[in-house]
Amino acid sequence: MLLRVLGTAAGGGIPQWNCACPSCTGARAHPARRRHHASLAVQATEGRWYIVNATPDIGDQIEGCPPLRPRPGTRRSPVAGLILTDAELDHTLGIARLREAAGLEVLATGAVRDALLNRLGLGTVLGPYTELRWRELPHGQAVPLGQAPGPGPAEPADPAARANPGLPAAPGDDAGWAIAERAGRLATDEADSGLLVEVSAIPVSRKRPRYAVPADSPGPGGKRAAGLGDDGPAETGGASGSTSGGADRRGSEEQGRDGGGWVVALRITDRVSGATALYAPAIATWSAELADAVAEADCVIVDGTFWDEDEPCRAGIGTRTATGMGHLPIVGPGGTAERLSTLHARCLYTHLNNTNPLVDPGAAEHRRLAEWGIEVAADGMVIEL
Ligand SMILES: [Zn+2]
Repeated sequence: MLLRVLGTAAGGGIPQWNCACPSCTGARAHPARRRHHASLAVQATEGRWYIVNATPDIGDQIEGCPPLRPRPGTRRSPVAGLILTDAELDHTLGIARLREAAGLEVLATGAVRDALLNRLGLGTVLGPYTELRWRELPHGQAVPLGQAPGPGPAEPADPAARANPGLPAAPGDDAGWAIAERAGRLATDEADSGLLVEVSAIPVSRKRPRYAVPADSPGPGGKRAAGLGDDGPAETGGASGSTSGGADRRGSEEQGRDGGGWVVALRITDRVSGATALYAPAIATWSAELADAVAEADCVIVDGTFWDEDEPCRAGIGTRTATGMGHLPIVGPGGTAERLSTLHARCLYTHLNNTNPLVDPGAAEHRRLAEWGIEVAADGMVIEL
């Protein structure tokens, strides 16, 4: 299995456009410290890649990663599709950036898909430009990458195909999942060459994007957290009890209601070698299911948004704790470093906020991580498992 780290920053990136904190200022002075929004490319088969989360930086991230650049000719991209861990703007705005594709496969939970289509209006906006072919990412059930039939993004645009973009027209319409039913448009040669990698989802947070919090929702769900991209207040309380995630609309809504589908970790497995990577840029709850998946993984790339629980308050970006904002801290009670330090897997932190001291390569906190045997992921990193 081949993974490419395309970005490692939390919402806003580093530097963030409206921020002159020491981290952002340092990144402007030293370009090597710049970090794109957190994202990961997964090679499904030779020359066919999936990108985990479509960030506002996705254009630069594709250009900066040679295997993702287009093949000779016109509009022949190795980017086969997207896998979404949540519906946050920092992880989904890049979908619109890819509108030049003839079509794009998008793997997401029902809750994430519904938020993007019904709250953000993404299907309505992008329908005239491209075809989003949705595939459900059900809880705990592995989905092979590259399986879906349909026109790959490598093919030239087909105006006739766009006339019926296959998006659900109204609540209750399940057609959005029915991407396999596009008669006559079978899988590309690349997909036929073998389905080598599969992915499954593990719920890790009940946090909805702020735009998807119901207006009448009690509590601070809709309030702004100044200067922190998407990382507003979280609905914490555990990710357990999620549904089985069936492909029907009702299942999607249930996923959304109990929080099981709002934020997930991805378990990415090479079906040939058995190698497994666990990718989770946001973790609010360390459930038993997540612990099991982490224990079985060969490589763990997880939420390193905040160094400690009080960092958001200390930095003046909010009144809530790290956990309250949907991110377990690295150190302190409930911190993830201690858990990761017991693993044999290669462990890396990603999704670093610009308040995190680890953004400074000279920070003493790097030594503490090294003592635990944990790394900080870097943009451009290549991971082979
Ligand atoms: Zn800053």
